[in-house]
Amino acid sequence: MKFERSLELFDAANRVIPGGVNSPVRSFGSVGGVPRFMTQGSGARLTDADGNSYIDYVLSWGPLILGHAHPDVVDALVAQVRRGTSYGTPTEMEVRLAELIREAVPSIEMVRLVNSGTEACMSALRLARAFTGRESILKFEGCYHGHADDLLVQAGSGAAFLSQPTSAGVTQAAAQRTLVAPFNDLEAVEALFKTHGEEVAAIIVEPVAGNMGLVFPEAGYLDGLRRITNEYSSLLIFDEVLSGFRASHGGAQERYGVLPDITCLGKVIGGGLPVGAYGGRKEIMEMVAPLGPMYQAGTLSGNPLAVAAGIATLEVLRDESTYAVLERRTKQLCDGLVEAASKVEVAVQVVHGGSLWGMFFSDEPVRDYATAKGARGDVYGRFFHSMLDSGVYLAPSPMETGFLSTAHTEDDVEATLGAARKALGEIAATA
Ligand code: PLP
Repeated sequence: MKFERSLELFDAANRVIPGGVNSPVRSFGSVGGVPRFMTQGSGARLTDADGNSYIDYVLSWGPLILGHAHPDVVDALVAQVRRGTSYGTPTEMEVRLAELIREAVPSIEMVRLVNSGTEACMSALRLARAFTGRESILKFEGCYHGHADDLLVQAGSGAAFLSQPTSAGVTQAAAQRTLVAPFNDLEAVEALFKTHGEEVAAIIVEPVAGNMGLVFPEAGYLDGLRRITNEYSSLLIFDEVLSGFRASHGGAQERYGVLPDITCLGKVIGGGLPVGAYGGRKEIMEMVAPLGPMYQAGTLSGNPLAVAAGIATLEVLRDESTYAVLERRTKQLCDGLVEAASKVEVAVQVVHGGSLWGMFFSDEPVRDYATAKGARGDVYGRFFHSMLDSGVYLAPSPMETGFLSTAHTEDDVEATLGAARKALGEIAATA
């Protein structure tokens, strides 16, 4: 496969943009090689600047559940752009999007729109602090909630309450307000709450974790977090930016039947344009300005273009049969990957739920960040490049989630499995 134009563009990009990209994982840093510069998306496919075509399983990192340039989304955007791109006033469309979100997500009574998942999580934390009058929060290793200071932290060695920043520029003060525990380990949470529970405003968790590869909650885990937060009068925040409208129509909270106090959304609800949202019980959301004392605002929040794309997307998703099709197709892909790997005796862990899927090159099941990091990243890199050469675009990092869209056909999945058999055969041959 030729990619000269991508190479030229990457050189040019590196001269004016840090690392040549506007978000780090796009740079292929963990798999090596030259990122492909895309020029077009249509249905399940992306086309790059050299004219190569790929079946896309990244889907802009999740938002494009209907695939690229879905006709309803395109029509809604074209119609809206002719009416103006931003008014800085309330609109009827914002009400419709809020209603569509509330109708689907069981725990949401009121919702505020923002511009990104980062903003949603940052605002949810402020709201939890405002509501409880407490300062600390608890997050889990390997869960990503955007790049707000309090959330770019990892457990310090030994005692989890001595958290460390994971980014330069994050202050020790911010890190120390954040407790960190391993995912899927209720005992660790219980132990932290025994000593710090009265200071914890909220637990924030990805109920289906999608930023250390894809890791599902074990039976009873989310119920346990609900019980502990109730016991200590802390809030439970589900960051469903990735799992929202993907784990099921109502997100992970519907799939697992556990209701949080606050939910963060993003990705799918913007249909490929920049949107985030945070919502929850009325009594909590009434803390938000101008109703209450918790300040949060945005020049382009509820932007008509983004809202139009979001409404068009969520209207299609109201047809529940969509989810049965997505789940079936995702299973077809994952069953095929397991079969292909076992035929050539390459150890893999393949998981899926809703339209989310993940693949680790590991002998043992992955249940937390430590086991995710234990998987073979170098083998993933080889798999990734072989798939890319065969015209399948996977996430350029083993610590990410795969997505499917309604535009992926059985034939697309079969073509993907053909490429996977070749890639896994190459890996087995050199093992
Ligand atoms: N929360 C989760 C679970 C995410 O996966 C992401 C982004 O990938 C975010 C928050 C941050 O969202 P954004 O990139 O829109 O700021």
